[in-house]
Amino acid sequence: MGPEVHFHLTRRWALEEGFSAPEADLIASADVSYDVRYPASASLLNITRHFSPMAWLWSERYLRQAARGRDLRLLGWALHAAQDAVAHGRLGHRHLMLRAGWGRDPDVWELAQPSVRRRIETTTRRRLRRYRRRAGQTTWVTWTSTPHDAASSLPSW
Ligand SMILES: [Zn+2]
Repeated sequence: MGPEVHFHLTRRWALEEGFSAPEADLIASADVSYDVRYPASASLLNITRHFSPMAWLWSERYLRQAARGRDLRLLGWALHAAQDAVAHGRLGHRHLMLRAGWGRDPDVWELAQPSVRRRIETTTRRRLRRYRRRAGQTTWVTWTSTPHDAASSLPSW
């Protein structure tokens, strides 16, 4: 999935779940930058970070660490891994189907089936709430930025 989910929608959902604007920016920036930091093409280990079933385990691990350290960057990574796990299907079967000439590109939000979109939103909101429950209301923001800054630091796709 591209920045539509990993940045824009994630930022909106974080705001709706009660995170402040700088917090939502930080979460969304971390989410969208995960593909740059851990490109799936770089290694087998990285592939596990973007495809189920392993991506769920990465997501859980990041979420636990995020709550423990009140680290919104790790929360963004937890969201990315879970969003990919839903979007790509089990063991990336949606990618394989696409390569075989079937189905739709699993990385394009507009083409995703409504049920897939709903599950991505649900899994994202659930994790945002779990973070807040575990880390408490007070989150520490290590840096702040305007939405403009966050968006302009996006890699260009
Ligand atoms: Zn990814």
